[in-house]
Amino acid sequence: MASHLYNDTAVVLRTYKLGEADRIVVLLTEEHGKVRAVAKGVRKTMSRFGARLEPMSHVKVLLAQGRELDIVSQAEAVESLAPLMADLDHLTSGIAVLEAADQMALDREPNRGLYRMVVGALRTIAADGGPLVVPAFFWKLLAAEGVQPELHACVRCGEPGPLVAFDMDQGGALCRTCRTGAPLSDDALDVMRMILGGRLNDALALPRSPTTHEVATHATKALEHHIERRLRTVAMFETH
Ligand SMILES: [Zn+2]
Repeated sequence: MASHLYNDTAVVLRTYKLGEADRIVVLLTEEHGKVRAVAKGVRKTMSRFGARLEPMSHVKVLLAQGRELDIVSQAEAVESLAPLMADLDHLTSGIAVLEAADQMALDREPNRGLYRMVVGALRTIAADGGPLVVPAFFWKLLAAEGVQPELHACVRCGEPGPLVAFDMDQGGALCRTCRTGAPLSDDALDVMRMILGGRLNDALALPRSPTTHEVATHATKALEHHIERRLRTVAMFETH
């Protein structure tokens, strides 16, 4: 029986070796969710895929459906995201985006929103999008997962302010009486409201400062917290 072929557009999340000459590429596709596929012969010099299947590559692919792993039949670059590779800061940011996407994406479960967010974040990084591209990506990712933090009133008592602490365990910002978690500055709270309240471009235009650093720290902790909780939930389902 001839194997089923399908086209898709994808970002390469990561790759790993398979045998002497082959590589497995983990793709975040537009239409088919996360797909693992074998790229045959990529580790030989003169591979027909060249550098098109490296992490962060944005590619059009023709895939052959396999029993466990699909097979990459063709790969063609959609655009060059070379500026991502030319600068260490860009590279580090790009990897952070890929890792977070890899944690969130489910095998063969289409998630076009996630695909678009990843492509958008990588393009913004390549275009020197400022210090908040990755934190903003994390917050948007959490919001898309349904865990948008409460930033407009104390998450425990509803007091409108002042809000002085942030705790993702509680689900957002907290007042002086209820405070747990990490201290939250007024400026960082403003920036988080910008990112999650439809003023992303204003936030991305901000220069690096202690405030952007604080926002990045809250974002990273919130994402880690969410991923841990998800992993625990998965483990619970698996042991029952
Ligand atoms: Zn409170």
